[in-house]
Amino acid sequence: MPAFVRTNDCDGCRSREEALCEYICPHDLMALDRDGSVTGHPLKAYNREPEQCWECYACVKLCPRYAIEVRHYADVVPLGASVQPIHEGQAIEWAIRFRNGTVKQFRFATRTTPPGSADPYGGEPDADLARLDDGSVLFTRGTHACDMSQFIAD
Ligand code: SF4
Ligand code: SF4
Repeated sequence: MPAFVRTNDCDGCRSREEALCEYICPHDLMALDRDGSVTGHPLKAYNREPEQCWECYACVKLCPRYAIEVRHYADVVPLGASVQPIHEGQAIEWAIRFRNGTVKQFRFATRTTPPGSADPYGGEPDADLARLDDGSVLFTRGTHACDMSQFIAD
């Protein structure tokens, strides 16, 4: 079931260089109808091939106006219910609205460092690039105990 745009809330990302939903969709489905010639709604975004949408939520999370929603299958989210993420810097909050009006919210951290920064080694020593070829220094080597015999068929 596809993502769709609530046109009342979409402002066409007019204060930005490009429409963020158009930019982020990995399937190139979201489009901004700049002159209204496609939908009759100028400067509003739309999903131009809803049947191709894989509900990845990338456009929903990035839209600064919270103007995009995913219409789920009825057995997951029945009509009248909704699942709406709100992305805020270092966290994402999911608002689950049930058909009876109950709303539950779940908040999760999405980063461990401030936006624009990264900690690639996570407290481990920096990589010694000179040792990459000797086959013994994979970054995760030794961090997991695993009995490989369980994967070998008799
Ligand atoms: S990201 Fe949101 S506000 Fe921007 S064009 Fe898409 S639907 Fe409209
Ligand atoms: S949910 Fe994912 S695939 Fe569907 S329109 Fe949005 S970004 Fe594209």
